[in-house]
Formats: sequence, structure tokens, C-alpha cells
Amino acid sequence: MTANGAAERFDVVIVGGGPGGSMLAMDLRRAGLSVLIVERQTFPRYHIGESLTGMAGEMLRELGLAEEMRRRQFPPKGGVKVIGKDAKSEFFVPVLAPTWQVRRNEFDAILLEKALEAGAVHRVGTARDVIRDGDKVVGLEYSPADAPAQRCTVQCHFTADASGLGVFFSRIGLAGRRTLFDFARQVAVFTQYRNARRDPGEMGLNTFIFYNQTYEWAWFIPIAPDVVSIGIVVPVDRLHACGNDPVSLMEWGLEHINPDLRERVAGCDRIELVRSIADYSYDIQPYAGDGWLCIGDAHRFIDPIFSFGVSLAMTEARAAARTIVAILTGADWQEALSSYVAYCDRGQNVAVDILRFFWQFPMFFGFQIRGRHRKDFIRLLGSDLYTPETNALVKLIREQLRQATHVGGAV
Ligand SMILES: Cc1cc2nc3c(=O)[nH]c(=O)nc-3n(C[C@H](O)[C@H](O)[C@H](O)COP(=O)(O)OP(=O)(O)OC[C@H]3O[C@@H](n4cnc5c(N)ncnc54)[C@H](O)[C@@H]3O)c2cc1C
Repeated sequence: MTANGAAERFDVVIVGGGPGGSMLAMDLRRAGLSVLIVERQTFPRYHIGESLTGMAGEMLRELGLAEEMRRRQFPPKGGVKVIGKDAKSEFFVPVLAPTWQVRRNEFDAILLEKALEAGAVHRVGTARDVIRDGDKVVGLEYSPADAPAQRCTVQCHFTADASGLGVFFSRIGLAGRRTLFDFARQVAVFTQYRNARRDPGEMGLNTFIFYNQTYEWAWFIPIAPDVVSIGIVVPVDRLHACGNDPVSLMEWGLEHINPDLRERVAGCDRIELVRSIADYSYDIQPYAGDGWLCIGDAHRFIDPIFSFGVSLAMTEARAAARTIVAILTGADWQEALSSYVAYCDRGQNVAVDILRFFWQFPMFFGFQIRGRHRKDFIRLLGSDLYTPETNALVKLIREQLRQATHVGGAV
């Protein structure tokens, strides 16, 4: 409400000011629309998800942020090294395009700031519900952070959910319910260490993935000159075996996931809390309707191993902006939204298939990166996922998944 009691009006209201929400706000402002971002946390705030793909790097350069990324000393990422069980094998996948490892608290604040510079308005508050006119969403109710019992009303032509794992539209029953993926029974515990041993030179700036067995792995991501982010991902039973204690699970992982990881971290100081996330792998259908849509984690998150999350959220934000602009300038909303959903599903479904395939045939990946599909493989891991018809490796992976389902039952 404004001071005289009338509801405020914006063309578009966005719930969540993470990379997806900020990117969407920037593109909508470029098209001349008025935009409100309602974000419940005060930035900078902690967030997991520090390694960016080549496609994310491209988008950041398009936003004119390359110099800022250098100024902040975000480590330039040249690729991902995957170290096999017992450190007996390894392969390296170079990035599709130059990109960075980021400290998400700073990175997300840079993007939000850029959206505000572009003219978006930002309120710190928690979205509570949408306002409907029949089946159409025509506004949002939120509680300001400094008056949590109060409800403010904003009217708008379109509302976007970019609330990440908060899955706001799903929680209020507007979008569908979360369906858990089979990747879902995992838990991730993560923290930061000072002076962990890296490879010399530029290789020491890359992401390292330590594989142990199916669904059991660790990440090692340099996020500052002397700091690495380390995460242990395991089936949730392992957490139970560690007394449901994230610190014990972290210690177990450093000791048992891979001998190479153990040596790199031995004797180093942990400088952050050990945090944990479980049940983070889900799909929500439907995720768009009259006057509303979801982007990024607000409708799907699969598996963190290939660091697709930020890139997918930003790519979907761009598609969402084109869709919203088209609808607000007269396009048929049903057609526009079904094209948006088809586009997002196309990319996300490729990601699901690669991930399923990796967990079933991890050695195949090491083999292919040296083989004739090398270029296609680099494209996929760079999160170039939206034109599968131009990527022969996608065809091969899907054919092999089909055969495996046929021969061995459910994949
Ligand atoms: C263990 C793990 C490791 C990961 N590692 C990587 C990685 O290395 N690289 C990568 O790219 N991705 C990674 N990801 C995924 C990445 O974190 C997400 O995909 C990415 O942050 C999605 O961006 P988003 O904008 O959709 O949501 P978010 O970045 O989560 O932003 C959502 C925002 O919405 C706000 N919000 C939520 N509810 C409300 C509400 N009701 N009202 C107002 N505001 C609200 C939140 O405060 C938040 O700021 C990882 C994920 C996990 C689980």
C-alpha cells in the first residue's frame, strides 16, 4: 500500500533477488517495464552454488560485468577436473567459454545492484500470497522485513517466482506440487577451508570433483586466493550413520571420499560453519499460468555435480523476460507460456539425461572427453543444453539410456 492507502502498481513483480530474479529484472527494465523485486533477505547473504559454467560467463560478459568480476578477484575457471575412485584415474573438461568461480554473497549482490541501477525497485520482505482475479494472478501480498505482521499489496500485470528452493508458487498451491527426482535422496554438507593444497598455476583455479561411488562425491572449488569451498554429497543414510551431525559427515567425507581430497585438506583450517541441504532435487509441473510463471530453482533443481544451477536460472530468466514482454504487448498468453515451458523443459530435460547417464556410466564420460564427441561434451558441460538437435552426444546418451531401461528396467 502507498501512504494514502492505495495499492502500489508495477508492470511486473518478481519474488526473489537471486541470479534468476535479478537477471529477469534487468531484461524487463531494458524493455521499459516497471519492476518490483521482493527479496526476503538483506544482501549480501550466504548462498551455495559457487562454480559457474561457460554459458553463465557469456551472460556476465554481455551484462558488462567482466571487469567487475576481475576487480573482485573471482578466480577465473578454466575447467573441471574429475578425479576417480581412490584417485586412480582422472579427466579434465575445459570450459566452453571463460567463466568464474564466485563467492555467492558478493556475486548475487552485484547482480541485484545491477538490476537496481537499471531501475528496478527492491523491497526487503517475504512474499505471502498472490492476488487473483478469477484464475488470473494480478498482484502480490508480502510482509516487509521491518514489519513482519503487516501485509503490503502490490498490483501488477505479471508475477514471476524466482524464489529458488523456497518454491513460493508451489507452496501457496499456485504451481504444482514438488515431485522428488531419484537424485533426491542425497544430502550435501559444505563449508570453506583456508590454504587447502591446490594444483600449481591456473589448474589450481579449477573445480575439482572427487568421485567415490554412485551418488557419493565431493566438490573442491577455489573461491578466493586462499579459500576453497568444499562440499560432500552422499545418500542421506550416510548422514544418519554419522548421528545426523553435518560436522561428523564432513569429517567422514574428507577422510573417506577420496585419498587425494584427504591430502589436500589435511591440517587446514575450516573458516566457515558446516551447512547442509537435503531434498533439493525436484520437479514442479505446471509452472506457468495466466499472469504468472516460475524460473530457475523455483520449478526444478536436479543435481549440483555439473554446476548448471545459476546458468539455468539466468537462461530461463532471459526466456521469461521475452515471454512477459510479448504477453504484455498483446501476444496470446497461452501460446507464449507454452513456448516458454517447452524451451525450459528442453534444456532441463537434457540436463536430467546427462546426469542420469553420468551416474550410470561414469567411465563413459572420461572416455568421451578424449574421443570423437569431445566438442559436444564440452558444450553440454558448459550448459549449452537448449539445442539438443545440434548435439550428437545427446542423441547417443538418450539412445543408451533407452537401451539400459529396456535391458535393465528403470534407469
Ligand atoms: C549443494 C548444492 C550445490 C550447488 N552448487 C552449484 C554450483 O557450483 N554452481 C551453480 O551454478 N549452481 C549450484 N547450485 C545451484 C544454485 O545454487 C541454484 O541453482 C541457483 O542459486 C538458482 O538461482 P535462483 O535465482 O533460481 O534462486 P536463488 O539463487 O536461490 O535465489 C532465490 C532468492 O529468493 C529469495 N526468496 C525465497 N523465498 C522468498 C519469499 N517467500 N519472499 C521473498 N524472497 C524469497 C531467497 O532469499 C533467495 O535470495 C548448487 C545447489 C546445491 C543444492
